[in-house]
Amino acid sequence: MTTTPGSDADEAEAAGAGLDTGYDATPYLPPRGGLPAHRKTVTDCRGCPLFGPATRAVFGDGPATARIVLVGEQPEDQGDRQVAPFVGPAGRLLRKAVEETGLAGEPVYLINAVKHFRFVERGKRRIHEAPSLRKETACQPRLAAEMRLLRPEVVVALGATAGRALFGTSFRVTKERGRPLHLPGYEKARAVATLHPSSVLRSDDRRSAYAGLVADLRVAADPPARTGAARVSPT
Ligand code: SF4
Repeated sequence: MTTTPGSDADEAEAAGAGLDTGYDATPYLPPRGGLPAHRKTVTDCRGCPLFGPATRAVFGDGPATARIVLVGEQPEDQGDRQVAPFVGPAGRLLRKAVEETGLAGEPVYLINAVKHFRFVERGKRRIHEAPSLRKETACQPRLAAEMRLLRPEVVVALGATAGRALFGTSFRVTKERGRPLHLPGYEKARAVATLHPSSVLRSDDRRSAYAGLVADLRVAADPPARTGAARVSPT
C-alpha cells in the first residue's frame, strides 16, 4: 500500500512495522537566545512533515513580559495565511471571552502547541485537520522552550492538543477542564484547561459552550488563595 509521507496512514504503517518516524523539532531549536532566536528558527523547522503543505510556521504573539499565556492547538487557515496565531473566528471568540473575565486588560501571549497548519484540500478550500500525536510530540520541544522563556504566571490550555502538550499524553481536557491544575515545571503558575474556542463555534449549543469557556477562563483569573491546584499525572 502506498501512503502519503507524514499522513496518519503513513504513521500507522510505520508504527505497525515498529518503525520510529523520528519526528522531532529539537535539532532545529537555536542553541541559545531568546524568543527572537526561536522565532527565526521555526521558519526553517523540518521536525515533522507539516512544514511542507503549510504556508509558514506561526510563532507565538504577544509581549515577552506577559504574565498570561494562552496555548492553542495549531494555526487556523487565516492564521496560516497571515502568519499570526488566533486571527480567525476562533481567535475573535477567544478575545471576547477573555474580556469577560478578570484577565481582561492584561497583556496576553498567544501560542500554539503545533506551529504549522495541518489541513486537507477539498477543491479550493483547506479544511483543518487536528495534528496527530506524533506531530504534537515532535513540536513539543518548541512549546517547552517558549514556555521556559516566558515563565508565565497564568497558563490556559485551550483544547485537547494543548492539554496533552502541557500536561502529558494521557491528559483529557473534558475531564480536567475548569479547575486549577498543577503544571509540571511551573509550580507557582495557575494553570487551567478548557475547550478550544473553535469547538465552541462548532457546538450545537453555542451559547452554553461559550458560557463554559468563560467560566473556565474565570478560574484562571482567580487569585490562588481561592483555588487549590489539582495534580494530573504527566506521561
Ligand atoms: S509542526 Fe513543529 S515540529 Fe513540525 S515542522 Fe512545524 S515547527 Fe517543526
